[in-house]
Amino acid sequence: MRIGKYSLGIGDRFGHQGEAQLRAIISAAAGGVNIVPVWNKSNREHSYIHSKPDDTRVEADAAVQALSYQGSYFVDADHINRSNVQGFILASDFFTLDVAGKIGTRSSDEEIAAFITSCNKYFGVLSIPGILDPFEIPDQLISVIAEKFLAAIAEAGKIYSLIKDQKGAGHFVTEVSMDEVEVPQTPVELFFILKMIADQGIPVQTIAPKFTGRFNKGVNYVGDVAQFALEFEEDVLVIDYAVKEFGLPDNLKLSVHSGSDKFSIYPEISRIIKKYDKGIHVKTAGTTWLEEVIGLALAGGEALDLAKHFYIAALGRQEELCAPYADVIDIRQDELPSPDEVLQWGNEKFANTLRHIPGHPDYNPNFRQLIHVGYKIAAESGEKYTALLEKHHEIIGKCVEENLYDRHLKRLFDL
Ligand SMILES: [Zn+2]
Repeated sequence: MRIGKYSLGIGDRFGHQGEAQLRAIISAAAGGVNIVPVWNKSNREHSYIHSKPDDTRVEADAAVQALSYQGSYFVDADHINRSNVQGFILASDFFTLDVAGKIGTRSSDEEIAAFITSCNKYFGVLSIPGILDPFEIPDQLISVIAEKFLAAIAEAGKIYSLIKDQKGAGHFVTEVSMDEVEVPQTPVELFFILKMIADQGIPVQTIAPKFTGRFNKGVNYVGDVAQFALEFEEDVLVIDYAVKEFGLPDNLKLSVHSGSDKFSIYPEISRIIKKYDKGIHVKTAGTTWLEEVIGLALAGGEALDLAKHFYIAALGRQEELCAPYADVIDIRQDELPSPDEVLQWGNEKFANTLRHIPGHPDYNPNFRQLIHVGYKIAAESGEKYTALLEKHHEIIGKCVEENLYDRHLKRLFDL
């Protein structure tokens, strides 16, 4: 099972927008760009919403059938580990092995020594075709890298085996992710990490390193775009070389866990993958949920009232809602509107404040981030929420589709 060159991870927390999301993919195909949709949902999202991986599978299959979609698609067990992978085995055919938590765990001296010996030919300097200056590799560096990453990749091997034993080799796509950490991995580290992955026999097709800069949920990239582009380009070249050097799958590509809406780096990603004719997987976070709130606001009446309730309730429960996402949100308290203010808003004002149009005078990234992490409140509204989603599915579906197509796909691909 191989994933196509371009793929897009589409989160859908409440599982109602599969068709709208797929319409964006179909529009791209009509425009000449084939993008493989991958419905991704993490264990945390399932637990907050009380959904199951099987629900994501049902949603994806139903959308595909309803729109007679002919292309391939996947259901991603996003950010899983050995403790929670079991529930995803049947429903998923794409597995994101998250080993970030094991980075820094030290392997045994024997394992470290064996890895260093196996890297013999890279001591000194490492020349990667396409990268002008060779990397200097002092002896010490490989042992530092081994001490930092060997145990994490060994863990990935264990998770992979667990899945393989049940699904059979070749029946699923494997991603290895290390993005949820503070310190970015350098291109040199990525090279040796890929060697470790090959040594473990993991047929990795997508790899998600931590890139430089901040990838806050649902808002734009914060960091040095030029520095990002430099590292991203080196990563692309490192992967190209590592594929040949270590015999990894030749469609191996970078996976950018974007947290959605990294509009300022999308053109760089687009430029670089085109330059080298490479593939890309971009995971968007659950911003489909934000489009649902925008759609509710635009629908007005009780739907707008519910959207306002989500914000006001989230404001009162900030600490609880933000805690699990502390590393990936930056909310400025003094820029959050007061409940009284929001209660006065009409539907357009609410929608424009939430919708991510950079430069729009009403857009407020602080408001947006808070609602983004507030999906638990919608889950608690249960029926009331889902009934309104269904009642206003047309207007909401339009928001979801337009968001994916106009703001994401158009910026990432030549559409
Ligand atoms: Zn991630």
